[in-house]
Amino acid sequence: MSNPSLLILAGDGIGPEVMGQVRRIIDWFGDKRDLKIDVSEDLVGGAAYDVHGTPLHDDTMAKAQEVDAVLLGAVGGPKYDVLDFSVKPERGLLRLRKEMDLYANLRPAQCFDALADFSSLKRDVVAGLDIMIVRELTSGIYFGEPRGIITEGNERVGINTQRYTESEIARVARSAFELARRRGNKVCSMEKANVMESGILWREVVQKVHDEEYPDVELSHMYADAGAMQLCRWPKQFDVIVTDNLFGDLLSDAAAMLTGSLGMLPSASLGAPMANGRPKAMYEPVHGSAPDIAGQNKANPIACILSFAMALRYSFDQGAEADRLEAAVAKVLEDGVRTADLLGEEGVEPVTTVGMGDAVLAALDASL
Ligand code: NAD
Repeated sequence: MSNPSLLILAGDGIGPEVMGQVRRIIDWFGDKRDLKIDVSEDLVGGAAYDVHGTPLHDDTMAKAQEVDAVLLGAVGGPKYDVLDFSVKPERGLLRLRKEMDLYANLRPAQCFDALADFSSLKRDVVAGLDIMIVRELTSGIYFGEPRGIITEGNERVGINTQRYTESEIARVARSAFELARRRGNKVCSMEKANVMESGILWREVVQKVHDEEYPDVELSHMYADAGAMQLCRWPKQFDVIVTDNLFGDLLSDAAAMLTGSLGMLPSASLGAPMANGRPKAMYEPVHGSAPDIAGQNKANPIACILSFAMALRYSFDQGAEADRLEAAVAKVLEDGVRTADLLGEEGVEPVTTVGMGDAVLAALDASL
C-alpha cells in the first residue's frame, strides 16, 4: 500500500501558525508510529493571490483532486477586503468545495469535560457531549434557481428556491449512515416536512435509503425547529444529525457554541468515493484567519489539530491513531493547559500556539 497523501493549504492570518503545530504532529506520527504521510504544501486565499493574482491556482486545484485529503488552515484578512468579489480569498475555498463536489459537511460538536464550563448551557447538559452534524453542502436554497431580486408592480421581490433531487438527498443520507455505523449507530434526519415539499421528499428518500441499505442503523425524523430546541434542551440524545444546507448552516453553528471556543472546532467536507475507495475530502478548522491575533503566537491550534484527527479517521483509516490524538488533546486540557481564548479560570497563565503544540506532543509521547 502506498502512503496516504495530504495537501496542506495553510492560507492566511493564523492559518500558517496553527498549521505549523499540525506539521509537528504529522512528523511525530511518522517517527513514533511509523505512519508515513506524503505531505505537499501549496498556497490558497490571499497568500495565493499575492503570488498568482488568483486565490487558487489551477495547478493547486489539480493537486487537490489527486490527493487523499486536503487540510486547509484559514483564508482572508483586511488586506484583501478591497479586492473584487471574483478574486477574494474565500473564492479559493469555494472553488475547492465546488470542484471537488464536497457535498457532505461534517461538523462535530464535542465537549471536552475540562471545558464544559465554557458552554452557555449547564455543565451536566454538555459535559461529554459528542454529536456530529452532517450538512448537505452543494445544493438547496443557496444554489436553487430561480433566484434574484425582481420588480413586481411597484415593489421589489427577493427570491430563492429550495430545490433537492432524490440523488442529492440519497448521497448525503448515505454519508450520515456510514458515519453512524462508526459511532453510536443513530441518525436523526431534520427537515420541515410539515410545511415544505422539499422536506417531504427529504424525509421519504432518507427513510428509503435507510430501509434498503442501512436497516441496522437507528433512524428518527424531526422537524428542524423542534431539533433546534432539542439541541439546546438535551443535545446528548443525538449521535448523527443529517440535514439540508440551510438548516445545517444554522444548526451546526448553534451546536458548535454548545462546546465553547471557536478555536476548538474542526470540520470535514466529504464527496464521492475515489477509485481507491476513499472519499474526496477536505478538512479545516471552523474558525477564520483571526487577523486580530495573527502573527502573535497566540492562536489556539486545537481546531486544526482536531481537523487532522478527522483526516486520520475518515481518509486514512487510522481510527485508533485519531483516538490517540484526540485523547492527547483531552489530556492537555485536563491538565489545565490553555491558550488565551480558553482563559476563564483564575491564576492560569496562557500558553502560546507553539506551547500548546509542545503540550500535545508531550501527551502523545506519554501515550506510548
Ligand atoms: P475569525 O474566526 O477569524 O475570528 C473571530 C474571533 O475568534 C476573533 O476574535 C479571533 O481572534 C478569534 N479566533 C478565531 N480562531 C481562533 C483561534 N484558533 N485561536 C484563538 N482565537 C481565535 O472570524 P472573523 O473575524 O469573522 O473573520 C476574519 C477573517 O477570516 C475574514 O477575512 C473572514 O472572511 C475570514 N474567514 C475565513 C474562514 C475560513 O477560512 N474558513 C472562516 C470564517 C472567516
